[in-house]
Amino acid sequence: MSFIEIDSNSKIKVPENPTIGMIEGDGIGPDISKTAVRVLNSAIELAYGGKSYIEWQKVVAGDEAFEKTGKHLPQESLDLLKKCVISIKGPLTTPIGEGFRSLNVTMRQYFDLYANVRPVKFFPGVPSPVKNPEKMNMIIFRENTEDLYSGIEWRYNSDEAKRLRWYLSENLGVKIPEDAGIGIKPISKFKSKRLVRKAIEYAIQEHRKSVTLVHKGNIMKYTEGAFKEWGYEVAREEFKDYTVTEEEFNSSPGTSSWKVVIKDRITDNMFQQVLTRTQDYDVIATTNLNGDYLSDAVAAQVGGLGIAPGGNIGDVYAIFEAVHGTAPKYAGLDLANPTSLILSGSMMLRHIGWTLASEVIENAVGDCYKEQKVTQDLARVLNVKALKCSEFGEEIIKRMKKPSES
Ligand code: NAD
Repeated sequence: MSFIEIDSNSKIKVPENPTIGMIEGDGIGPDISKTAVRVLNSAIELAYGGKSYIEWQKVVAGDEAFEKTGKHLPQESLDLLKKCVISIKGPLTTPIGEGFRSLNVTMRQYFDLYANVRPVKFFPGVPSPVKNPEKMNMIIFRENTEDLYSGIEWRYNSDEAKRLRWYLSENLGVKIPEDAGIGIKPISKFKSKRLVRKAIEYAIQEHRKSVTLVHKGNIMKYTEGAFKEWGYEVAREEFKDYTVTEEEFNSSPGTSSWKVVIKDRITDNMFQQVLTRTQDYDVIATTNLNGDYLSDAVAAQVGGLGIAPGGNIGDVYAIFEAVHGTAPKYAGLDLANPTSLILSGSMMLRHIGWTLASEVIENAVGDCYKEQKVTQDLARVLNVKALKCSEFGEEIIKRMKKPSES
């Protein structure tokens, strides 16, 4: 087995036949994973003629792990994911009950996967609730490790909440009602800057037009507002030659058109803008809570969660994942839409530098949608015959063309 190595600059070194971790997931996970692996393997074979291939390393997590080990995410699985460096996962059931943390959150924190990255692009043929879905081509970088998701919160009647209320009242003159639960929203300079840095690096590398900092800084000045300030600081201090602020750009149009324009928008306005001025937005960098809402909202504009891919990416490790849940009612029926996981796999191939294979996949998926070859979730909206999950995978493979032919 050839594992991906990490060099002294924390950069990944990908061998020709890398071992990649695969968590199949719960519910529809096994169905969509099987199809996704078949599609990915076929695209890699076509793009590189057998010279490169992935050795898939199964990693157990979720219900399967619980049955085997009594734990949903055993240490051996975390060790294996670490060894693989790059992995892909299907959806996992979040165990219900006090004391259970989401397995996804655990993995994000364990591997410091601080950027949740979600490209959102329209495939012609996919049913959409908006008039011009083709205007959408965004990629959201959502901070993944802090904000209100840090889990620092107390029930209204807990001892901690009482102590905190007392402290705030005695020391800072802040009165909080006795029936109020309390949550804390940490937004740090280090974590904000590294997230924005990743978004700007991506924008420069991929020749994207702009990076928009989305925040609610008009109300939450020292958390959301600070995120915006630190974002501009990164652009100014680290990417001066490659970026220009919107203000500078507007005052001298044309002169800096090759640079990435850095702008900011207040969250509520941004929700309107993605609908009314979709084409003006490109790369988005935002805090955890904003990003959670915004990424599902924009995904809905181009066909919903069954399609949108995602990746959780840190400085070294990365786990790519379907963004939807386990859809238990379709579990084991070979009916689910595997597109989200297939496109997450395609993102993963780009991440390891296998761009040709990724293009093969995206073109073939696009051709399927154009010809309305779809699974039941979309077939019932389009009023066409539904393909099974595995059949949809085969239709994608049939439409694959060598990059030079496409
Ligand atoms: P869900 O995404 O599983 O389902 C929402 C709706 O979308 C359902 O109607 C479902 O049938 C449909 N759907 C989702 N994916 C589909 C696909 N690929 N093809 C066709 N239809 C699809 O969300 P939920 O019902 O809120 O959650 C179910 C379980 O999944 C919960 O345990 C939840 O914690 C978990 N979950 C996991 C992740 C993850 O692992 N990343 C994300 C979200 C939810």
